[in-house]
Amino acid sequence: MSIRHADENAEATVVTLYDTTLRDGTQREGMSLSVEDKLRIAMKLDLLGVRYIEGGFPGSNPKDIEFFERARDLKLEQAVISAFGSTRRKGVAAADDPGLKSLLDTGCSALCIVGKTWDLQVTEAIGATLDQGIEMARDSVAYLKSQGRTVFFDAEHFFDGYNSNPDYAVAVCQAAADAGADAIVLCDTNGGMLPADIQRIVTDVHARVNAPLGIHTHNDSGCAVANSLVAVTAGCTQVQGTINGYGERTGNADLISIIGGLVLKMGDDCITRDQLRLLTEVSHFVAETANLNPNAQAPYVGASAFAHKGGLHASATGKLAGAYEHVDPASVGNLARVVVSELAGRASLTMKAAELGIDLSGEQAAAVLDEIKELEYHGYSFEAADASLSIMLQKRLGTFEPAFTLESFRVIADKREDGRVATEATIKIHVSGHRYIATAEGNGPVNALDKALRIAIGRFYPQLANMTLDDYKVRVLEDKKGTGAVTRVLIDTKDAETSWGTVGVSENIIEASWEALVDSVEYGLGRSTRSGGESES
Ligand SMILES: [Zn+2]
Repeated sequence: MSIRHADENAEATVVTLYDTTLRDGTQREGMSLSVEDKLRIAMKLDLLGVRYIEGGFPGSNPKDIEFFERARDLKLEQAVISAFGSTRRKGVAAADDPGLKSLLDTGCSALCIVGKTWDLQVTEAIGATLDQGIEMARDSVAYLKSQGRTVFFDAEHFFDGYNSNPDYAVAVCQAAADAGADAIVLCDTNGGMLPADIQRIVTDVHARVNAPLGIHTHNDSGCAVANSLVAVTAGCTQVQGTINGYGERTGNADLISIIGGLVLKMGDDCITRDQLRLLTEVSHFVAETANLNPNAQAPYVGASAFAHKGGLHASATGKLAGAYEHVDPASVGNLARVVVSELAGRASLTMKAAELGIDLSGEQAAAVLDEIKELEYHGYSFEAADASLSIMLQKRLGTFEPAFTLESFRVIADKREDGRVATEATIKIHVSGHRYIATAEGNGPVNALDKALRIAIGRFYPQLANMTLDDYKVRVLEDKKGTGAVTRVLIDTKDAETSWGTVGVSENIIEASWEALVDSVEYGLGRSTRSGGESES
C-alpha cells in the first residue's frame, strides 16, 4: 500500500503562493495583530517559502502604514511584501487618486488592487456605467505599471459576476490584462461557489483572458481549499489564502492545506520539501501569535491529524507505517501519535509507551491496560494527559522517583464583609530529607496551592520558574453507580519547548486539582533532568 499520491508523470507546475493573513486574515472576528506580530509572521512566511506576503491596506489605517515602513528593514530570503488597495475612484485620474498614491507610497514592489467585475455592483454600488467600470480597471493597472511595480488585479465577486454577465466580467479582466497586470486573480468574494463551478468558469476564463490567472476564495460553502486546488487544475498559477484559513465569516482558503495538497498530492514545487517540514510549526506559530488555540483537527498540522485511536487501527499502524495515514506526518513536520483510551488494545499502549520513552513488555502492557481501563471507569481520561500516563507507567515499572512528598496541605477560602474572597494555602512537604512549610495566597484554591508548592520546592528546583500552568479545565462527571458525582481536572503546563497534559479525578475538586498539579510538576521536573526530554507537543 502506497501513501504517496503525487503523480510522477504529471507536468510539474510551480504555483505562486500569495499570503493575505496579515490583511484579509485579520478580518476574522476576534483577531487582531500588532505591527510587531505582523513583522514576525512575515519572517516566518518567508522561511516557509511563500512568494508574496500582503501586509495590509495602507489606505485604510495608520497601523498598516507603519507596517510597510518597518517592513522595508526586514531581511527576507525570497518573499516580497505587497500592499493592497482598490482601483481609482470614478471620475478621478489614476495619477490623482489618493488610494493609488498611498499604495505607491508604501514603496512595495508588488501591489494588488481590487476592482469590480460584477455588472450589478458597478452600476448599483459605485453608480458607474459598465464602460466606466472597465476604464477604472484599465487606468489603474496601467498607471501602477508605469511606476514600475508588479501589479495583481483582484477581480472582486468574479464568479457571481460571471454568472450574472460573463462577457462583462471577462471584459474587465481582459482590460486589466491589456494594461499589463501580472496576474488576474479571480475572487470568490462571497465564498459560496462549489468546485464544479470553479472548474467550469476558470477553464473558460483561462481560454479567453490573455494573462496568468490567480484564485482567491472564501470558505462559506466549506469548499475554499477544494476550490483553490481545482482552480489550479483548471489553469490558475497563483493561489491567495491565509494561514489556518483565518478570515472573515467562515474564513479564507487555508494555505496550509493548499500547500499540503499542492506539494504532496499534485507534485507542485511551490515550496521545497525542506520548507514543507516547517508547515506545522508555521501554523502553530501564527495561531499563538494571534492568541488563538491551534485547531487540533486541522488537516496536516493538527495535533490529532495523525492520532490513532482504537485497538485495530493502532495495531495496524504499528505493523505498517502509513496504513492509516494519507501522507507521512514527518513530511509536514507533524508526528504520528497513538491515543490511549479504553478502546485501545495492547499494541497501541506499547507504542504509546515507546513514544514516551518507556519500554513495555507484552505482559506489562496487559497489566497496565487493565489498570487504565479501571481508571477510565472511575473517570480518568488519558487522551489529553500523556504526562499522567507516563508517570503512571513509571510507577507501575518501579522506575518513578518522586521529586517531593506531601505531608499535608490546607486551603482556606475567606469571604470578607466587603465582598472580596481571599484564598490561602499552606503546604507541608518533604524534599530530600528536609521538611518545608510554605503559605501563599491565590485567586482561587488551585492557584494558591500551586504558588505554595512552588515556594516550598522552588529552592531545590529552580527550573520550576520556567513552567507555567497554561490551561485548567474542570468537568463534573455524573456517576453511573449513584455514589455521587466526581470531578475530573485537566491541567496543561508548558515550558519554553513544549507542553504536557495531566489529569486528576476525585469527588473533591481540590483533591482532583492537586493530583493533576503534582503530576504536572513531577513530569516537568523529570523532563528537565532528562536533558531536553522527549518532544511531545
Ligand atoms: Zn478576500
